[in-house]
Parts: sequence; C-alpha cells; structure tokens
Amino acid sequence: MLEKKRVVEKDAPLKKDDLIVITGAGGFIAGNLALYFQKKGFTNMRAVDKKPLCEWYLHVPGVQNVCLDVSREENCRRVCEGAVEVYNLAADMGGMGFIERFRVECLRSILINTHMIEAAYRAGARRYFFSSSACAYNTDLQQNPNVRALKESDAYPAMAERGYGWEKLMSEMFCQEYWAERGLKTAIARFHNVYGPYGTWDGGREKAPAALCRKVIEAMDTGRKDVTIWGDGYQARSFMYIDDCVKGIDLIMHCDDLIATPLNLGSCELVSINELLTRIEKIAGVKMNRKYDLDAPRGVAGRNSDNAFIKKVLRWEPKTPLQEGLAITYWWIDEQYQKRKAGERVGVG
Ligand code: NAD
Repeated sequence: MLEKKRVVEKDAPLKKDDLIVITGAGGFIAGNLALYFQKKGFTNMRAVDKKPLCEWYLHVPGVQNVCLDVSREENCRRVCEGAVEVYNLAADMGGMGFIERFRVECLRSILINTHMIEAAYRAGARRYFFSSSACAYNTDLQQNPNVRALKESDAYPAMAERGYGWEKLMSEMFCQEYWAERGLKTAIARFHNVYGPYGTWDGGREKAPAALCRKVIEAMDTGRKDVTIWGDGYQARSFMYIDDCVKGIDLIMHCDDLIATPLNLGSCELVSINELLTRIEKIAGVKMNRKYDLDAPRGVAGRNSDNAFIKKVLRWEPKTPLQEGLAITYWWIDEQYQKRKAGERVGVG
C-alpha cells in the first residue's frame, strides 16, 4: 500500500517527559546531546548505540541506554516506539584516516538512515533530526587552503567526498522527501569538524584536534618530543566546539523555517593543521619537533563554513573561541590518557 501524506499540524512545544530517542549515543556528539537535554530537564530519553555499554563515553543519569544495531530494520522499530522526537546520529565514521580507507562501511550507513527515518515516521514521531556533514559539499570547490567558505548551495552540482559524503547527500534527500511526500518534519545539519570532550581520541577514528592533542600528550609522556603531521600541514579547516554543536542541533530541530533544509552547523574560523598544533603546544606549554607524512590521508586542501544562512534564520552561530574549546579538550584527553595508563577502563571510539 502506498503511504499517504500525514496531516501536518502545528506541533505543541516538546514536554519535559516526551520521549526523545538519540542514536549513536555511545559516541561523541549524540552522547553530549543526551547530556545537554538532561541538563535542560528532559526526563524521558532513550539513548541507543551498538557498542557495548562499557565502551560508551557517557552514561547520562536517568537515560535509558539501549545496546542495539540500528542498521537493522526491526531494531529501528523497537528503538523508535513511542518517540516524539528522533535524533539520528549513529554512523560508521571517523576522521580522514577512516573515511578515506573504509568507504564501503561509510556507504553502508545508508541502512541506518533508511531504516531509522522510516521507523520514526511509522512510530508517529513529530520531528526527525539527521546529522549530515560538510563532506557532502562539492570537492572541486575545496582544492585550495585559502578556500572561500562553503554555502549551502555548494553541494550541487554534486561531487561529494567519495563514500562518506555521497551517503550523507543521499540521506539528506530521504529527509527532504519524507517531508515533501509524507509530512514528517525533518531537520538536516551539515556539521563541520566537531571537537570536545567525550569523543574519540585514539584507535584510528579520531579527528585532527583529538589526534594532535593525544600525540602531544604521548610525546611528553615518552620524552620524545616528535609529532607527525599528516600531509604538509597547510590543509585548513574550521573546528566547532561540542557545546555549540548540541545547542545548534536543538535550535535547528525546533525551527519551522528550517524543515527539510540542509544548513551549515560549524565555526567559520579557518585554521591550518600547523596552526592547530601551535595552539595545542601553547596549552601544553611545549614545543614539538614536527615531522610530515606526505603519504598519509589529508582530505581536501581547505574547507570552511559560510554562516550567512544560519545567522539569518537563527540569529545565532557557533562562537566558542578555538583556544578555549581546545584547552578543555586537551585536558580531558590528558585525563583519559593517564587513567588508561593507570589501568582504568575508559570509553573507546
Ligand atoms: P562517533 O563515531 O563518536 O559516534 C557515532 C556512534 O554511532 C558510535 O558510537 C557508533 O558505535 C554508533 N553506531 C555506528 N553504527 C551503528 C549502528 N549500526 N547501530 C547503532 N549505533 C551505531 O561519531 P560522532 O562524531 O559523534 O558523529 C555523530 C554524527 O555526526 C555522525 O552521523 C557523523 O557522520 C556526523 N558528523 C560528525 C562530525 C564530527 O566532526 N564529529 C562531522 C560531520 C558529521
């Protein structure tokens, strides 16, 4: 039977005991999102991840933690039962080293997104959030470290990052068509590199800020002050602190002017990887010997977020200064490193 479009009503504000479902919550952004909603007073949350509970970065008090693989349709149905809002952040992903090497795994996240949106729709959820990525943008526009910032329309004509970026573009389209054809209110944010505490900092999935913090901590611990940078270090990115990311998700999800409209959620402060390391050295109070691995994955030459659209609609943009967010991140990773060295169990990516 073909699905009919739902009658779209103006929805009441979310009540504190309405069920919020968050997938990927054993990971970085979704774990922090559960913490954000708990601090805002929401009392009915279901946090889902396929990782065993002992590997989650955060166990937020009062949240129902569920260990399930949401690339399977039947699990998505269970997970979405009774949900008023669904935040789908589960994905098989990592930094450049992961997404360049494991394109099949990245593409297979389409299963998560296909089943989760259908399950949210069938469960009668009011709103559905999808975490897209700046990797959805046309790579031809990112060939120079001094790039102009990417605006939302730069995703088309499409030439996304192979694997990961194409999966994001396709899943964005699902969100747009579920709204157009079936009346499910969807929200789509294109995150630009997010960093902060409670995220992957080693093991192969970590991104540049966490990787460089860990390398500096390791170098200081071993007394060998060498740090290897992937590529020539001139590649440039913008980095958004996690607190801005979770606040942005909330604002975007609850803005009717943004339904089914992909938009940038990122910082617009462009820095090179060399500069990022300099800032970390300042926090640690050291100077490293820099080595360059020119054969390592480095991604596009430059990528920045054009924030004109988000500022226009929400009158807000991510603002945490990089130095401030990096210092919090560095000391959190240092704490994890010391704990693990002492034999304690810490979260893994
Ligand atoms: P993360 O790897 O820390 O978290 C993702 C979580 O999803 C992991 O804990 C993983 O175990 C879980 N997961 C993967 N497959 C699953 C499955 N089949 N069933 C249940 N759980 C599953 O990543 P993150 O940085 O928190 O990213 C969250 C979302 O934001 C992802 O969709 C990612 O693509 C997107 N994103 C992140 C960034 C960033 O800089 N961190 C940038 C752009 C987009």
